[in-house]
Amino acid sequence: MLLLLTMKTRLTFIIAGLVLATTLVVTASGAPKTDRIKIRYVTPKDAAYQQVYLDMKRRGTLEKLKVFLSPLILPRTLRIRLAECDGEADAYYDSASITICYELVAEVWENMPEETTPSGIEPIDTLVGPLFEIMLHEVAHALFDLLELPVLGREEDAADQVAAYMLLRLGDEAARRLILGTARAYYVEELKTGDCRSLEQYSGEHSTPAQRAFNLLCIAYGANKKLFSDFVDKGFLPKERAKWCFEEYEQVEDAFETLIRPHIDQELADRLHDRPWLCDRFEDSADLTPEDCLLAPVE
Ligand SMILES: [Zn+2]
Repeated sequence: MLLLLTMKTRLTFIIAGLVLATTLVVTASGAPKTDRIKIRYVTPKDAAYQQVYLDMKRRGTLEKLKVFLSPLILPRTLRIRLAECDGEADAYYDSASITICYELVAEVWENMPEETTPSGIEPIDTLVGPLFEIMLHEVAHALFDLLELPVLGREEDAADQVAAYMLLRLGDEAARRLILGTARAYYVEELKTGDCRSLEQYSGEHSTPAQRAFNLLCIAYGANKKLFSDFVDKGFLPKERAKWCFEEYEQVEDAFETLIRPHIDQELADRLHDRPWLCDRFEDSADLTPEDCLLAPVE
């Protein structure tokens, strides 16, 4: 596929007699290829984030993300860094660079419940789920930009959809846990706002946290009604919305498979992703070490 694209592009050059600097042609940074992720842990100045910094580093969080994303065929290097953001609990993408703020990691960490929630969500899932979803959401922004993908609708919603679709590819158990953990994080965020949301707050580019939770649950339910049937049974997702979620999922699937799949080295992805990316019960799997897992648990 890649070879065909390159040959086609070269042919276009000869015919047109023009040299165009697009993302799919050979440029100064080289032809599109896999393994284009560069990572960095920026040392925080504020002592308050020292623990988060050390912990993320010790667990090799970015190293694992780098491996996970290595099958992406990108026209240039994508930098991913964990850094301090002047007190802002944020994550953002700009110019082939993703920044996840220690402040945001710390905030997600603080919201982790001490024990399993009444609806059965494990504490670790409320940490790993949102953190991984945030990273994939930013990766989606990067893909839209670097691959020059057309986006219909709000980009923030589209990035959420890509992240949800990727979470669903991680296997049934991991998908369930990460999605429930992420949805719970959105609810906690929504509850903090309470009923006091100002009109102005609706003007933001993101959907509200509650809407983002419902969108995520809907895509999951639409992907696999049986696996996620409890979302409706337990009232996490209203029946009225659930009815047409399969169509919402199919739309995301179609867009992802058409626009993003051609930029994934499938053989490499199959080889890499056929492993337990999420595991927190090492005693259940004697062959596994914490390093085998995408994000190891909090000890
Ligand atoms: Zn975003």
